[in-house]
Amino acid sequence: MGVGDGVVRPRILIIEDEPGIVEFLEVGLAHEGFAAEVARDGASGLRLALEHQPDLVVLDVMLPQLDGFTVCQRLRAASPVPVIMLTARQELPDRVRGLDLGADDYLTKPFQFQELAARIRAVLRRHRGDGGGTAVRSASLLCVQDITLDRGLREARRGPQRLSLTRREYDLLEFLMRHPDQVLTRDVILDRVWGADFTGDGNIIEVYVRYLRQKLGPPSPITTIRGVGYLMRASREGRDHV
Ligand code: CA
Repeated sequence: MGVGDGVVRPRILIIEDEPGIVEFLEVGLAHEGFAAEVARDGASGLRLALEHQPDLVVLDVMLPQLDGFTVCQRLRAASPVPVIMLTARQELPDRVRGLDLGADDYLTKPFQFQELAARIRAVLRRHRGDGGGTAVRSASLLCVQDITLDRGLREARRGPQRLSLTRREYDLLEFLMRHPDQVLTRDVILDRVWGADFTGDGNIIEVYVRYLRQKLGPPSPITTIRGVGYLMRASREGRDHV
């Protein structure tokens, strides 16, 4: 998404009441080729988001009139517009709440502008259909439990946490996620992830599943079916044991 002639600048609505941050965001976004609009309280932010249908909303948590969580919740009920929340460090436990309410990402203040810009671009890519510009969840997004794969970016997240996976780990995870609640035999996994011409040791799968489990963290979404293969559950069980 460039800024060249005839290219539509993505429209970002900033809902933020701190003048310093507003200015910082406006200048930065303009520089990055975005068109920014500002609302300084939750109520007018919600109204603008619904009336003007921006491509993305950057939403502060502590706001006059309506707090960011309420705005996010009401917005989510009425619009698919992607939301990135800005939270203060002391609101840390609330981060997940923001995501539960349907925020697409969050950033903790203080943050580097470049990080926000990168996340805006990533969220826009995830939401963009085939270049139509409307906020549509892309078919390239694959979600099982709290794990999200962006197949366009080959990016994996568990909850808000981005996972650093090797190419093979990513391929294995994607294959498992494409077949939730199905037992996948070692032979099938070898064939589909490593390729029919793979001649090495079949134990390689065990090794990679172990790597994946380590990176995904507890509770493990991957179940071993002894002597057969592996299975990824579509929904999470045993949550209470974590
Ligand atoms: Ca604020």
